[in-house]
Amino acid sequence: SKGTIVMATVKGDVHDIGKNIVGVVLRCNNYDVIDLGVMVPAAKILQTAREVGADIIGLSGLITPSLDEMVHVAKEMEREGFRIPLLIGGATTSRVHTAVKIEPGYGGPTVHVLDASRGVGVVAGLLSPERHGALAQQVRDEYVRLREEHGSRVAQLRMLPLAEARRRKFAVTWDGYQPPRPALPGVRAFDRYPLDELTRYIDWTPLFRAWELHGTFPRILEDEKVGPEARKLYDDARELLRRIVREQRFRARAAVGFFPANAARDDDIEVYAGDDRREVLAVLHGLRQQTEKPPGRPNLCLADFVAPGETGIRDYVGAFAVTVGPEVEELAAEFQQHHDDYSAIMTKALGDRLAEAFAERLHELVRRELWGYEVGDAPRNEDLIREKYQGIRPAPGYPACPDHTEKRTLFRLLDVPDQAGITLTESCAMWPPSSVSGWYFSHPQAFYFGLGKIGRDQVVDYAARKRMDLREAERWLGPNLAYGPND
Ligand code: SAH
Repeated sequence: SKGTIVMATVKGDVHDIGKNIVGVVLRCNNYDVIDLGVMVPAAKILQTAREVGADIIGLSGLITPSLDEMVHVAKEMEREGFRIPLLIGGATTSRVHTAVKIEPGYGGPTVHVLDASRGVGVVAGLLSPERHGALAQQVRDEYVRLREEHGSRVAQLRMLPLAEARRRKFAVTWDGYQPPRPALPGVRAFDRYPLDELTRYIDWTPLFRAWELHGTFPRILEDEKVGPEARKLYDDARELLRRIVREQRFRARAAVGFFPANAARDDDIEVYAGDDRREVLAVLHGLRQQTEKPPGRPNLCLADFVAPGETGIRDYVGAFAVTVGPEVEELAAEFQQHHDDYSAIMTKALGDRLAEAFAERLHELVRRELWGYEVGDAPRNEDLIREKYQGIRPAPGYPACPDHTEKRTLFRLLDVPDQAGITLTESCAMWPPSSVSGWYFSHPQAFYFGLGKIGRDQVVDYAARKRMDLREAERWLGPNLAYGPND
């Protein structure tokens, strides 16, 4: 063995496709990999690293709250006197985040790795007695520079006061608009939704991305460089998918509901218990873009797409949560027992594809039947994947609404744990991992956007609206803050 690497997906996070691929590649290169799995507390990672005499620790995570947990692990390593290299990877991690937030807390080499293939090179360098020193120093210098650049970028942001950002909200002309009343109001559940109905809604491009093949489906199959590999992957994926569908291996469940709703106090959406709109059932808390935009461009908030109460318009929002069940993890574990890492990872990747396909299919049912605001010909499959249709389904934790804790409201409204069998971890990741949830907005002008950076005045206001401690709000919104903790 060339060295021992302890790897884990951090506490609160459930995603491990990327980590597992890194693990396989490292093992193929004769490293000993101790993979602690998902939702692993810092203490367990450090204890294992000590016990096995680890040469490197690798941390992975998909959702933004995991970034904070990684900072915590790094600080614990420092506190306990570790000096071995710390590798950081996963979808929301970045070089800048690693440089700004993680590296300053730990004295050993701390390196962000973009993907599995590069990971091996970094590991080899860090474990080579000749190259270790130079590489560690090179990364350290680079991260100092990244911190400086990041600091000056943030300092140069032109932030509007929250009140001014609100004045520049997206001006929907509500005049004469009446959103259709949902055909089937209230909450309903689906169970054992036929998997064979979902396969044609699969967006295949992200499957290739999960395996670190870059390109758009179906063109990627003919790509000069990665085409042959992509075709092999696609064939294997479809063969396993056929088996999963034939044997009904996954259990597709969903909860979906529609509620009378109006925008309130600019950035919130009030959800009402009944059509009389007297009793507020829940408040969805929105965040508003706060950086100065070019003239004429609005400062957006999702609440802009819902009619304010003052207009007298009786608007609605929807909510959904879908999963293809814990059966995905169970089938992956079966493959794992037979040392078939490839099929285990493929199973999880297909679980994610089917969950997303289910979200697409359900959205179509919602537009055409359950809510029923879309009439005329059904969009073609390519158009579904490009999301060329009326209305959006923004997901808490994604760019327009990056606060994952809003999922707690969504889960309560739909009673998701009972209705669909999905629960939230302490970081608001969904378990089972192959799950998707979000809101439905029907307005024809609704579109996806990114929140970007927000100022302290908005975070103070938001925390008060949510009755959340300011420090806690800052923790959940960490990547969006236009200020540091000491500014
Ligand atoms: N076809 C893709 C769909 C996933 S990404 C796949 O199979 O993987 C698209 C979804 O992410 C959207 O449907 C929406 O739920 C969410 N999303 C995308 N951009 C968003 C944004 N800016 N804000 C909030 N949610 C967003």
